Order: sequence, then C-alpha cells, then structure tokens
Amino acid sequence: MKILETRDVRFSYPGGIEALRGVSLGLSVGRKVALVGPNGAGKSTLMLMWNGVLRPTSGEVRFKGGALSYDSASLKRLRRNVGIVFQNPDDQLFAPTVYQDVAFGPVNLGLSRAEVDLQVGDALSYMGLEGFERRPPHQLSGGEKKRIAIAGILAMRPEVVILDEPTSNIDPASSEEIMEMLDEQNVQGKTVVISTHDVELAYRWADDVVLMDAGRVIRQGPPEILFSDEDQMRQARIKPPVLLDLYHEMVERGLVEDGRTPPEGIPGMIDLMEEVIGKGAKRHHGRILIVDVDRPSDNLPRRLIEGLSFDYIGAMGTRAKMLAQKEGIDLDFTYGVIDKSILRALNGETCLIMTTGGMVDHAALRIEAYVRESGSSIKVERLDG
Ligand code: ADP
Repeated sequence: MKILETRDVRFSYPGGIEALRGVSLGLSVGRKVALVGPNGAGKSTLMLMWNGVLRPTSGEVRFKGGALSYDSASLKRLRRNVGIVFQNPDDQLFAPTVYQDVAFGPVNLGLSRAEVDLQVGDALSYMGLEGFERRPPHQLSGGEKKRIAIAGILAMRPEVVILDEPTSNIDPASSEEIMEMLDEQNVQGKTVVISTHDVELAYRWADDVVLMDAGRVIRQGPPEILFSDEDQMRQARIKPPVLLDLYHEMVERGLVEDGRTPPEGIPGMIDLMEEVIGKGAKRHHGRILIVDVDRPSDNLPRRLIEGLSFDYIGAMGTRAKMLAQKEGIDLDFTYGVIDKSILRALNGETCLIMTTGGMVDHAALRIEAYVRESGSSIKVERLDG
C-alpha cells in the first residue's frame, strides 16, 4: 500500500521560482526512504507537502489513498500520523522548557494529562533525554536540540516520520545513533523518510531512494541500482557511493563478474575481495550471539551475559545502550554493530550483541541473510531464554 502519494504536484513559493515541477511519487508503507538530490532540488518542499504545511499550486497529495483536504480537522489528523522533523531544530523548538516543547504535539492532539505525561516521558527516555525536562532548549547543543525535535515528533506516535537532513551539522557518532534509532522505529512498523545529500548514508540505510533534481523526481528505486547509473548520477550532480565505485572498478578490470548484487557494506566488500584474492575459504569463522536484554523476568543484562564467553560486545538500540550504561558494561561497539560483529566473526572471533524487542529479529535476520549470501560459516545464535 502507498502510505503517501503525490500526483503531478507543482508548487511555487510566493514570488519565487517553481520549486516542484510535476512530482508524481508513491511511498510504500513500512519502508525506509531517502530523498537524495543537490541543494535546491525540492526535497524540503516535497516533505512539507506530505504533512500539509504547504499546499500544492496544482496536483494532489494523498495519505493512505485519500486526497488531502486542507481543513483544520483533517490537517490535525494528518499531522498526528505524519510527523516532520525540520533540518534546523531552531525552526522547530520554541517552548521555554524541553518538556513543554515535546508535549506541544500531544497536548494539541487533545490527549489527557496522564496520556501526555506518558507519551512525553516515553519519547524523552527513548531519545536519552531523561533529566532534560526543565531545561531551556535554546541553551542545549545542536545534537541535543535535534534529539528534542525528534522526541517531539515521536511523542505523537505517528505512522510516518519524515526528517529533513537528519544528520546535517551533527557529529558522526551522534549521526550513527540517530540513523540506528530510525532503523528501530522502522522495525517497529513506522515508515521513515529522510532527505540527504549524503549518498554513502542513503546507500547503506535506505530501502528505496528517490533521486530529485530541479523540482522533479528523476528516478526512484533500490539504492544499488539507482546509484549504479553513472549518467544519471552525473546529471543529478551526485557522486556515487565509494563502495559502488570500487565495485564497478573491479568489474571494469575483470576482477569480478558483472551482474551480481553489489556489496551493501564493508562485510560484503571484504568477501568480494577475499574471493578475488582467493584466500577466503581457508579461514575459520566465529560466532555472533544475540541477547535480548530487556526481558521482564530478568531485567539485569549483566546477569544475562554472565557466563557467556565472547571477544567483543556491542549494544544495538537506545534501550540496550541505556541498560548497558546503567549496569556499567563496557561496550566495544555502539554503532554499526551488525557490520562490526560480522567483520570480527569473519576473523574467527565471537561477538555478543545486546539488543531489545523487535531489534533481536532484525539483527538476526540481517546477519543470517549475510551468511546465506556470502556462504560464510558464521554461526548466529539467539539467546532468548
Ligand atoms: P532542497 O531541500 O532539495 O535543498 P528546497 O525544497 O529547499 O530544496 O528548495 C527548492 C527551491 O525552492 C529552491 O530553488 C529554493 O531556493 C526555493 N525555496 C525554498 N524555500 C523557499 C522559501 N521559503 N521562499 C522562496 N523560495 C524558497
């Protein structure tokens, strides 16, 4: 099902140029979508169409199959379900305290005091902002402001989360954390849409990429296909992801056969290189243990991992990281945990991944898919009691 659609949408800013020039596009429910394109391509404008902040000059925007009507009741309904996080948190945060800012959406939805408290509390703790409730947002760092803005959207529990350039002006470790948190939201069923000009990020993260330039959608599709089209990349003034560049160069030189699926990340590229060098098969592969550390019966991660033997330990997801910190568990990996564990396991070592809820399946499925595709002998074990 298409959760959001635009049909031949055109839009001009007052007195300005046409920012969208006939955009027809559908976003499937439950996907991770990246809008990619140079500055001025129309990405932000399109995002503002999707939650009704802007109204098309002509054409139609649809949510779950129904055309938007721009009366206040239906806009309220739409915004409850489609949340947007602006690129610059200063455009989003305005209340005197963090609590009031995050509560703004839920209060506007007409929730009871108790519901507001619950949803705001959940969103703040999810974003690692416990203790920030009374602080004034304008005194906080850029990364903290971004997390508050995201908490404000999550507090409304929307079905679709849209983020304009979620990683711009944020340090790399915080960016990884935000992207992992978006993965987690997606695993929980939300459709997540970001805009970015970081092709490396889009390549690794997105299920679907929408390539935009000069107010138009040039193409939509899986990242490995879309970013492989060199002519199109040039036309859109976009540099392909390094991994793909490297892969195509290897094909060009006859080192690997054309027509296979290009590697999605470093583990896939390492396999390919081992194949080329011909040393791959000899090595003994290790194990990856995945532990759900948030079981109601035994909420003590330290006890859960006691007695397990492993070389490296990582935590995936906000809750797992928080539990690890609370228990003073020293983590080797806090982001890119799946890839790092695979790489260490390819080296014969054992990795333990602490995670929670739906992320257990997500991690196991991703690693199992890698093992299947690469033909490696890494063993994956879920320790869910
Ligand atoms: P992107 O997000 O891809 O960088 P935008 O949607 O921000 O692109 O911009 C698309 C076009 O609309 C650009 O030419 C930009 O200058 C113009 N534009 C964006 N916002 C405004 C505005 N508030 N007023 C006038 N023109 C705008």
